[in-house]
Amino acid sequence: MKLLVVGSMALDTIETPFGKEDNILGGSASYFSLAASMFAEVGIVAVVGKDFPEGHLDLFRQKNIDLQGVTREEGETFKWEGKYGYDLGDPDTLGTYLNVFENFNPVIPESYSNVDYVFLANIDPELQLSVLNQVKDPKLVACDTMNFWIDNKVEELKKVLKHVDILLINDSETRALAGEPRITTAARAVLEMGPKILIVKRGEYGALMFSGDDIFWAPSFPLEEVIDPTGAGDTFAGGFMGYIAGNDITDPAGFKTAVVNGSVVASFTVENFSVRRLSGLTKEEIGKRFAEFLKLSKVD
Ligand code: AMP
Repeated sequence: MKLLVVGSMALDTIETPFGKEDNILGGSASYFSLAASMFAEVGIVAVVGKDFPEGHLDLFRQKNIDLQGVTREEGETFKWEGKYGYDLGDPDTLGTYLNVFENFNPVIPESYSNVDYVFLANIDPELQLSVLNQVKDPKLVACDTMNFWIDNKVEELKKVLKHVDILLINDSETRALAGEPRITTAARAVLEMGPKILIVKRGEYGALMFSGDDIFWAPSFPLEEVIDPTGAGDTFAGGFMGYIAGNDITDPAGFKTAVVNGSVVASFTVENFSVRRLSGLTKEEIGKRFAEFLKLSKVD
């Protein structure tokens, strides 16, 4: 197993202008692992409750995603309810029910401890630190976080950032973490906290990658069929990290290709609710959209 993700597996209730779906498969580790499995061998560390359908676990198994680190506890699965407005921008969170996730204490199976690539999805920075203490000497560690942890556990988060190679967050999180409204200045301040690379996810406006003095931008694919934006960020991270792990990327051009792959895979996720579009995705579809992507800003 090349790539480990530690994060949430959830049952989401989502409302968008195109419909409402109850208790559908969600969670950062779900989107991340399905996206990453298109490029690399992935394993998940997460917790689910008694109500989590076995059929969802079968979907991960079909994709050769290793579930040794997924535990089933007494109680209900983590549940999140979100509603998107007409612009399909940031959702309103209508409910967060932590359930078994409240006592999540990630235990990395012995067989994963030598893993090369680690993605710490958006969880308590103290748990992110605990994961880092359980893996031996990974080649590359990436992480995500959210405003809640920036507001409530910034010192713990800064400790995590000292050990992280790549941070993937959105622009409001970048501004909040740096305490600086201008995105490029904020990015520089965040890079001084430890990560060598910062990726700022900007929804339909694409993703910016900052490393040293370099800035690279990949747009989001202009889609006609956006139905549910949930999971776009985690899917981006999965496509990006999966490509890096699957190809042992170390060079700047490879990281840029990884950003484009992240954008490509995320563009499929939003075409339907939950992981429906991701679960049937083929390498051919990814390759075709990758080629269309490159044409987006090429002047003939
Ligand atoms: P994204 O749209 O990429 O930010 O990810 C959305 C997914 O994150 C949803 O499927 C939710 O189940 C999950 N999620 C929402 N809130 C949290 C939280 N506080 N902790 C962990 N996962 C969450």
